[in-house]
Amino acid sequence: MAKVRLEDIKRRFNNVTAIEDITFEIPDGEFWVLVGPSGCGKSTILRTIAGLETATSGKLFIGEQLVNNVPARQRDVAMVFQNYALYPHMTVAQNIAFGLQMRKVDQRIIQERVVNVARSLSLEHLLDRKPKQLSGGQQQRVALGRAIAREPQVFLLDEPLSNLDAQLRDDTRAELKQLHHQLGITTIYVTHDQVEAMTLADKIVVLNRGRIQQIGDPQTIYAHPANEMVATFLGSPPMNILPAIYKNNAFDVNGQLLAIPANVAKSVHLPQGQNVDLGIRPENIYINEPHRYREHGEGELGELVVDVKVVEPLGRETLIRTGLPGSSVLVNVQVGGDVRLRLGDRLSLQLDLNHLF
Ligand code: ADP
Repeated sequence: MAKVRLEDIKRRFNNVTAIEDITFEIPDGEFWVLVGPSGCGKSTILRTIAGLETATSGKLFIGEQLVNNVPARQRDVAMVFQNYALYPHMTVAQNIAFGLQMRKVDQRIIQERVVNVARSLSLEHLLDRKPKQLSGGQQQRVALGRAIAREPQVFLLDEPLSNLDAQLRDDTRAELKQLHHQLGITTIYVTHDQVEAMTLADKIVVLNRGRIQQIGDPQTIYAHPANEMVATFLGSPPMNILPAIYKNNAFDVNGQLLAIPANVAKSVHLPQGQNVDLGIRPENIYINEPHRYREHGEGELGELVVDVKVVEPLGRETLIRTGLPGSSVLVNVQVGGDVRLRLGDRLSLQLDLNHLF
């Protein structure tokens, strides 16, 4: 196991800068997730750590060793890709043992490791099968097993769950978390899926256009996003963004006024007439929930009148997609239980202004 440190890493492809200013240190044994939209540079960072790409500038350390010029196979990292890449002619046991065979590890130790790895991934009963006799989820577990068996210093995972169907993805995600807990290997995981990032990570690195937007633990990033990109990327459904104009201690949202509560006003320092983007998460908007209103002090809720566009029952909760009358601005609301609303209904929303960004 080892810590991983990136210092001002940059990678250019011809004239295109894929990543720059990439600096962070992952302490030994932690699980970090690199997340961001497609093309933001996640894989380039991971491949640079693996030694499959070379940094144009900057320093990369694994443990205490500067590894910029160390070839991939000498870095003692194991990488798992989304397409498994198993050897089709070998059994599960042979696939798991492959890296150890190449290193001429003692046969007895190989046997032992294969059995242990198979046990921790629930693959014991499949050891004699060939990959094509396995489900996608089982194949991915074998790919993980092959990586674990080598007992690498660092584990690199590039979208390892994206080829699995929804249920299997959830199960395998939970297994991965358990496995990390068990093994404690420093892990760097790349995904575009914010749910995976939120659920798996000790720390999340949010990337956009090749640059780090924010680094933090999931709860902190969710509660205190550094900018609008982070705010709207993490959270499902995403944070609502309402264009508004600041006027006399209120925000004018397309002609509707949200008065700023006294406790929030202290932190608002804006010139009159300033255009702003207000952010509010769907779970901080209420409808028809009088008990919620009582929980809030005078002036902490603001009213917005909207038209119902779509109602989506999600079981325990209902997602209501609404729009501000006479504008294209959409407001998503997530409420508990069932609601009797129809397309085109006019609705009064109560916004919890303590949770306004
Ligand atoms: P992500 O993994 O977040 O989808 P990538 O790291 O794959 O993003 O890519 C980041 C940027 O670098 C993209 O604009 C991509 O087109 C570019 N890029 C990646 N690899 C190469 C390459 N081998 N040659 C040219 N451009 C590349």
